Amino acid sequence: MSKIMAVNAGSSSLKFQLLEMTKTSEVVLTEGIFEKIGQPEPIFTIKYDGKKDSKFVPEVRNHADSVAMLLKVLVEKGIVKDLNEIKGVGHRILHCGEKYSDSVIMNEESIAVVESVNDLGPLHNPANLTGVRAFMKALPDVVNVGVFDTSFHLTMPDEAYMYACPYEWYEKYRVRKYGFHGTSHKYVAYRTAEILGKPLEELRIITCHIGNGASLAAIKYGKVVDTSMGLTPLDGLVMGTRSGTLDPAVIQFISNHEGFTSNRIVDILNKKSGFYGFTGGHSDAREVRALQAEGDYKADLILRMQEKSIADYIGQYFVYMGGVDVIVFTAGIGEKSPECRLHVIDRIKEALQIEIDEKVNEIKGEELEISTPNSKVKVLVVPTNEELMIARDCIRVGKIELEEK
Ligand code: ADP
Repeated sequence: MSKIMAVNAGSSSLKFQLLEMTKTSEVVLTEGIFEKIGQPEPIFTIKYDGKKDSKFVPEVRNHADSVAMLLKVLVEKGIVKDLNEIKGVGHRILHCGEKYSDSVIMNEESIAVVESVNDLGPLHNPANLTGVRAFMKALPDVVNVGVFDTSFHLTMPDEAYMYACPYEWYEKYRVRKYGFHGTSHKYVAYRTAEILGKPLEELRIITCHIGNGASLAAIKYGKVVDTSMGLTPLDGLVMGTRSGTLDPAVIQFISNHEGFTSNRIVDILNKKSGFYGFTGGHSDAREVRALQAEGDYKADLILRMQEKSIADYIGQYFVYMGGVDVIVFTAGIGEKSPECRLHVIDRIKEALQIEIDEKVNEIKGEELEISTPNSKVKVLVVPTNEELMIARDCIRVGKIELEEK
């Protein structure tokens, strides 16, 4: 049996999911997270067999310790009989700049390539690589595959990814739009084609990944032609804690008034804006909806602003692709907020001739077709599954042979 580990290592955390993969089945065996790595009281949580164990693990001082503990626990709990059942490890890595349009095998050469773009993902890339190195050391004979958040978007044409600032900023520093959530947009696009029984190459899709972070992608005949996040994930839609697009001169204006550095202002735009900035610190969409229901003006306003921003991008991508066959909602809000979906569709339904089945739209967290047969554009909900996409890429790129069943 081939088991594949999907890993997402952050600066103080390491999330994992172990999947058993055959040619005909994909089953999650266990998942969990190490949190507060490097701090006095790290926590290890693992879910398996319908149970959830959580404990302090002070002996875990770094990512390598967390990987060693994870592998030990997998054997102790009988989740794997022998570590050699693990045939591959797929790693979520934030940024590969313009280097890789597909996932790659991680070795010293590709690690160096990822390190060469660390300036584009200064918080995430080094942390992601810590996870890669920890698994390389713990399981030296197992293939490691890097799956990048930015790769799927590398098909964008120059007119979509360039910024109209001095060209030398691009030449010297690679300043351009990259886009993020690529693994999610890719999974959802492929799944949509499967659901509709049509090749991806024949569909124009707008994928709406609306979670705490949020982005849209315009996918024309299998290729991303535009996306809403930019050089960093700050750009585009109104989000849980991010402002999304605004006039960049706001930074100078606030700097002049408040005496803040640009670093501090961009930090505020990333962490204290969006829902959070309008509601006194609520970044969770459910809490913002509850405030709205109580008649809170600012909560209502920021939700309308997010819905407008999603609708605006859909309109833009509809025109840019010369039409759209299917709009897909995914991630926390996209999957579980009927209100968000309904309000977005309300804004575009006249122009795009969309008809929604409001009863079906009430269902949360499931694969759904929420448009009616009369609708000119199909509207789907497809729960995202980045871990599965990472595991599949690990198998494909790592050339791992799977058993039939
Ligand atoms: P991320 O991975 O970006 O942290 P998620 O995709 O998990 O985010 O989405 C988190 C968002 O989804 C939060 O704003 C949360 O409030 C929202 N969400 C989760 N469940 C529901 C729900 N039942 N109804 C509305 N929003 C929900």
